Amino acid sequence: MNFNIEQIRADFPILQRKIYNRQMVYFDNGASTQKPRQVIDAICKYYESDNCNIHRGVHHLSVVATEAYEETRKLVRDFIHAKSAGEIIFTKGATESLNLVATSFGKKYVGAGDEVITTIMEHHSNFVPWQVMCAERGATLRIAGINDKGELNLAEIEGMMNDKTRIVAIAHVSNVLGTINPVKKIIAMAHRHGIPVLLDGAQGVSHLPVDVQELDCDFYCFSGHKMYAPMGTGVLYGKEKYLEEMPPYQLGGEMIRDVFVDHTTYNDLPYKFEAGTPNVEGVAGLHAAILYLKGLGMARIAHYEDTLVEYATRKLLEIEGIRIYGTSANKASLVSFLIGNIHPYDAGMIIDKMGIAVRTGHHCAMPLMDFMKIPGTVRASFAFYNTTGEIDQLIAAIRKVREMFA
Ligand code: PMP
Repeated sequence: MNFNIEQIRADFPILQRKIYNRQMVYFDNGASTQKPRQVIDAICKYYESDNCNIHRGVHHLSVVATEAYEETRKLVRDFIHAKSAGEIIFTKGATESLNLVATSFGKKYVGAGDEVITTIMEHHSNFVPWQVMCAERGATLRIAGINDKGELNLAEIEGMMNDKTRIVAIAHVSNVLGTINPVKKIIAMAHRHGIPVLLDGAQGVSHLPVDVQELDCDFYCFSGHKMYAPMGTGVLYGKEKYLEEMPPYQLGGEMIRDVFVDHTTYNDLPYKFEAGTPNVEGVAGLHAAILYLKGLGMARIAHYEDTLVEYATRKLLEIEGIRIYGTSANKASLVSFLIGNIHPYDAGMIIDKMGIAVRTGHHCAMPLMDFMKIPGTVRASFAFYNTTGEIDQLIAAIRKVREMFA
């Protein structure tokens, strides 16, 4: 597939939509991406020809649905270059993946007096589960700060590591600042101390090529809906050595091997962590989404989106009174900013009236907002179907906001 923007846009029916009689500009991809026709068709095809509950069925449809589901698991394995399909657990999203690890890992490995390291830039989904697990288990959550550019300080993080540290949980890419964290270095550092590392890849996997073996992360979590796949799909990658030891997160059908009246034995990986009927049609859509991404090539997507971030940054800085939050040289996919003293919510409302979708507020990162002493930001987050022409429209809208508040 060529990286032909017109052709790509034609694959996404919703991009033709008009909002307030204007061609919609969708810059809320950090919250959720739009879906290409290929994904929508895969879901329709699933219901029109393959719909059935998976696993255990001997009849044809159940076998077909099961095979398709397991094929997607292998596709995900290859997409993030995991060692085995058993290390790929389907969840309903990054949040569920993160809760699964915090809960199960916590039960197995974290006790009173232990420590967990995270950072101030985390999304609540990679913060609250650790905070609550630590409180329940008498452990301490240690929180690394950031510099003025929105970057982590590796020396600070290493200084927090000790023989009580059980895990480091950090974002691959910040959903507020866009910072691509130096995760490979952090992982190598943590491993020197014998500490496993979880990466919240919710904003990573749709923008960057991800190779979990090369990164050597111990867990990697992401959501399907932020990578052009349906809502309610997600993945937890975990190294087998941890997943084997961790207790199941939910109990019920499929995750069992044998149930006796007085005890239960558990299924092999990955099924031990997949209790109940999963989102089979969502996974069919995830399959199509990954094929679509592979067709474009993650390296080319990253390169194209970098040009959008650079262009947006340059144009924003031409506007008087703009403050950009997150100015690391190593950034992906988004710009977060404030316009003078205008409240982000007011700015977002006016920008919306011009048919442009941006997100405003704390972006589920309230500790970060407190740290930066701001109520929130306006965030324009990009996808490969966005264009510099659309960014020009955003810039015009921001100038209008400034005029209205002058
Ligand atoms: N982590 C990060 C960095 C995110 O950006 C998000 C979604 N905004 C999440 C976790 C949670 O993802 P989901 O709501 O799809 O579970």
